[in-house]
Amino acid sequence: MPFVITDPCIGTKDTACVDVCPVDCIHPRKDEPEFEAATMLYIHPEECIDCGACVPACPVAAIYDSHDSTPASQKGLIPANDVYRAGDADAVARAEEMVRAHVESHPDLMAIDPKERASAHG
Ligand code: SF4
Ligand code: SF4
Repeated sequence: MPFVITDPCIGTKDTACVDVCPVDCIHPRKDEPEFEAATMLYIHPEECIDCGACVPACPVAAIYDSHDSTPASQKGLIPANDVYRAGDADAVARAEEMVRAHVESHPDLMAIDPKERASAHG
């Protein structure tokens, strides 16, 4: 079961996870055209090999190790990770729309500094 990026990435997006991922399954990378506009990064569910390297690399604890371990408040971002495909404008737009919906429906979480947000996940 793939790893999942959640909302502390919003407002952080430092790509530390990209640098340690052995299979290049986290996008967009800084050298991809979608990077500047992306609200957060996404893990390709079929390419992730569940190695776990990204979890300690993330400075804001945004990454969970499975769909099951992803907190209820973050479940809406699982399909965003699932659909995002670098270079596919429609897929990128769909993923970003899911993130927008998540942000709009969780003003409480978004008001928390990204460094503290994971501790408020429920
Ligand atoms: S668990 Fe490993 S393969 Fe999957 S996204 Fe993280 S670093 Fe990449
Ligand atoms: S390391 Fe964490 S905050 Fe940084 S880009 Fe990856 S998921 Fe986002």
